[in-house]
Amino acid sequence: MGVHGALIDHENERRSSLTGDRQTGMNRRTKIVATIGPASDSVEMLRDLIVAGVQVVRLNLSHGPIDDHLVRLERVRQAAEDVDRHVAVLADLPGPKIRAGEFPAGGARFVAGKTIRVRPGSGPSDANILHVPYPTLLNDLSPGSRVQLGDGAISMSVLEVDDVEATAKIETGGHTSGEPGVHLSSETLRLATPTDEDLELAETMANAGVEFLAVSFVRRSADLDRVRDVVAGRAQLVAKIETRSSVEYLHEIVEASDAVMVARGDLGIDCPIEDVPHLQKKIVRHCVEVGVPVITATQMLESMITAPTPTRAEVSDIANAVFDGTDAVMLSGETAIGRDPVGVVETMAKVAVRAESEASYRRWAERLGRVQRDQEYWATRSIDPITAAVTHAASLAAVDANAAAILCCTHSGRTARAMARFRPGARMIGLSPDLAMVRTMALSWGVEPLQVATYDSTDEMAASAIETALEAQKISHGDTVLILAGTASSAQQAEPLLAAGAVGAATDVLRIVSVA
Ligand code: ATP
Ligand code: MG
Ligand code: MG
Repeated sequence: MGVHGALIDHENERRSSLTGDRQTGMNRRTKIVATIGPASDSVEMLRDLIVAGVQVVRLNLSHGPIDDHLVRLERVRQAAEDVDRHVAVLADLPGPKIRAGEFPAGGARFVAGKTIRVRPGSGPSDANILHVPYPTLLNDLSPGSRVQLGDGAISMSVLEVDDVEATAKIETGGHTSGEPGVHLSSETLRLATPTDEDLELAETMANAGVEFLAVSFVRRSADLDRVRDVVAGRAQLVAKIETRSSVEYLHEIVEASDAVMVARGDLGIDCPIEDVPHLQKKIVRHCVEVGVPVITATQMLESMITAPTPTRAEVSDIANAVFDGTDAVMLSGETAIGRDPVGVVETMAKVAVRAESEASYRRWAERLGRVQRDQEYWATRSIDPITAAVTHAASLAAVDANAAAILCCTHSGRTARAMARFRPGARMIGLSPDLAMVRTMALSWGVEPLQVATYDSTDEMAASAIETALEAQKISHGDTVLILAGTASSAQQAEPLLAAGAVGAATDVLRIVSVA
């Protein structure tokens, strides 16, 4: 398997059934992140979206006033409670992206060959004039400069620049709406990330209780530090990989992140577009190896914003992201402003489940077991060696014992994430007493989150994990299940061990039990 090869090999049916992967009839393992917006923010619609398969809701703070997003957050909580599911909320910080002044309702169509005026300052945009709220815009433009709109679909070339505005010729036409991003070819624009606005929004959203904050245009791991300071443990950070620099410093960024997003829109503008599929594979592969959840994003079912059925290319894209081993696939405009948000989610779910049935995850687990014996693995690890060893053992034991489920008892979700690295065939249940942590597990591949009470001993914890999983009908009587836990979670029980010099804080217990 080359560096750019698929993380998960596509294998034929016979081989899949021989390996004994418990894929058929299983729940979907790849998670769905959906951006909500004007087309999808009623409580009823949110309930339908969650039932259709959305596990993480994204609020794109680039669009619309913050108060709208706070209302949406409350509605998501309401809807999730109504249908009794644990749903995480991800608030996406805008970053230093320049956006065009708003287009009229219904958007505007740009026709190749026509000219358009590009003017600095705030004001509305339409097919004849593009307002760009960036005071020094004209300094960055000269005849021949390229300006791209949105995720690069529309592009224009500057013909001339005067004191007031630039005139540009549309090279690639298309339809745009809302406040699309404006990309200039000049690099002088790369302002600092995070912006002051990002930090303010981070504070507001952390207070409001979102589980994840996504940081846009990260260049190095240090860009995450200032957001982390503001958030102070109240939310987890998702690094969006969308700049050339973030690709170069991928390892340090992943190590400093709680999750990662392959933000293919801006990535395909900052890097050659033909590199994007390969960068996606490389980023996903690294994240899975070190146990950091990774989201594959942008244009996954773009045509369904207006059309009832997807293109074949989009269906293949989702399936290939599943084969890459991504934790989650994401919807943007498809659910935020699309014609049929629920239909889009159902389509995505169907395609993902089908792809999972064709993938053999066993080979990946075997490879990861070997990889983590390697010195280099520990140079970039996000997981301690004890947890790494115990979860590897569990991935093997689950196959040998033909286990129905692996119950991961965890406070922070760390154990479940470490376990999910192996992409086990057995179902994974993540059990935490901390509701926020229960919700964050909704993003991790294959992890089904449940809330439990806090217990003083590993025995009690194991017993309650079994009871909770039985009650939720995740396991049945007669099943063999694995239980993963950490002794250190119980100070009292760990005393003899600690006295003997053992240092806790890792996942150090693996039990295999038969549920009578
Ligand atoms: P980013 O670079 O952060 O991904 P984007 O503009 O590409 O920004 P997406 O969230 O990927 O935005 O796509 C959502 C689409 O839906 C955009 O075209 C946007 O204009 C539109 N939209 C309108 N209102 C909203 C909203 N409240 N939330 C999210 N998207 C919205
Ligand atoms: Mg983006
Ligand atoms: Mg986008």
